[in-house]
Amino acid sequence: MAVEIMDKIVSLCKRRGFIFQSSEIYGGINACYDYGPLGVELKRNVKEQWWRAMVVENEDIVGLDAAILMHPRVWEASGHVAGFTDPLVDCRQCKQRFRQDEIDPKKWEKRQCPACGNANVLTDARQFNLMFKTHMGPVEEDATVVYLRPETAQGIYVNYKNVMDSSRKKIPFGIAQIGKAFRNEITPGNFIFRTREFEQMEMQYFVKPGTDEEVWREWKDRRMAWYKRIGIHPEKLRFRQHGPDELAHYAKAAMDVEYEYPIGWKELEGIHNRTDFDLSRHQQFSGKDLSYFDDATRERFIPYIIETSAGCDRTVLTCLIDAYEEQKLENDTRTVLHFDPKLAPVKAAVFPLVNRDGMPELARKIMDDLRGEFIAFYDDSGAVGRRYRRQDEAGTPFCVTVDSQTLQDETVTVRDRDSMNQDRVAIRGLVPELRKRIWGK
Ligand code: ATP
Repeated sequence: MAVEIMDKIVSLCKRRGFIFQSSEIYGGINACYDYGPLGVELKRNVKEQWWRAMVVENEDIVGLDAAILMHPRVWEASGHVAGFTDPLVDCRQCKQRFRQDEIDPKKWEKRQCPACGNANVLTDARQFNLMFKTHMGPVEEDATVVYLRPETAQGIYVNYKNVMDSSRKKIPFGIAQIGKAFRNEITPGNFIFRTREFEQMEMQYFVKPGTDEEVWREWKDRRMAWYKRIGIHPEKLRFRQHGPDELAHYAKAAMDVEYEYPIGWKELEGIHNRTDFDLSRHQQFSGKDLSYFDDATRERFIPYIIETSAGCDRTVLTCLIDAYEEQKLENDTRTVLHFDPKLAPVKAAVFPLVNRDGMPELARKIMDDLRGEFIAFYDDSGAVGRRYRRQDEAGTPFCVTVDSQTLQDETVTVRDRDSMNQDRVAIRGLVPELRKRIWGK
């Protein structure tokens, strides 16, 4: 059942142009995906909502867009060169690779391979570094090695002084960034849940030591509230706190926001108290003073960092899964994506009921008005019922139809995706009406 839903979503994503396998005409490349016309809009809207909640609405948070390639010393300081590893295990029998920490402990005890079932065939675990390496410039030697960043956070840490000085921020303040990250995952999979190239939405909040625990608690609640605000079902969300044995080397406390995927409860975002680990290490490795001087108390300290680290692609997947419904109607089934209107790739579709009597011309004019505000889609082919279904499957919240009454009184019908109710709305009031229904203002 669970897998079935995932398969249906994967196939809908391809059919409707949300997400394609990368390089498909060459047979695809494992766990790499491309966002199609609908997917790119959905992803942009997710990012826009995150940026709004982080940067636009908070005077104490500013944005950043750091380079993917950074000085290799950054990754020594951060601990990634030495420790960003997963335990890799090979099966001697079927040649498959696994993460040892993902193998059922009972099977691991017998060294039983999870795929082929044979005992005593798994190799010992070796630590495998997840960073992608490449070379800067034409010479491929050790001195030219650079890494594709495995997280966006370090770009923020190394810029913390630049940002603070240029934007005249005082602690506490935050820096937000959305960008690509790369991890050579041993077991990518479950569609865009775990890929080797993905986008993160991270915010690093710099605080005075001693205030860190309270700020961490605040941020975990704010991040949970954000998922509800973008329309995710609250009963499918939960917190999971990391036990002391699970904490990363830099963390004093870690809380995951988890979602109940068809494959079970899994991490969607991590909220971490990273202490002064990062800035202390960068101070040590760069030799630059990264301490903060508090004018009011005349104290000098290395700020603590509270991090909120979300996966953008994983949020997109969550939105797709959470919105998906196969709804049984009287004599058929409709597939609907119940996206929050703010996230919907296409906000409205415009239909002339029939292709005559001046209806297409009027519908085109309405389409032009809507396009000045948001993405609208024009469709004049097939029965209107089928056109509604196509939009339901794309998650379009509103369908505007020009019919014969429109020619009499300059009103159109607005059909709501979720309730399937239709209201008549005057053409001149249509844009403000849709704006209100989409953004609530
Ligand atoms: P895991 O232990 O599952 O590999 P993690 O705990 O190391 O993941 P973080 O480093 O905390 O993950 O990354 C923050 C967020 O980035 C995750 O919550 C997730 O949403 C996203 N993320 C991490 N790795 C991937 C990936 N390979 N593909 C897609 N999203 C990812």
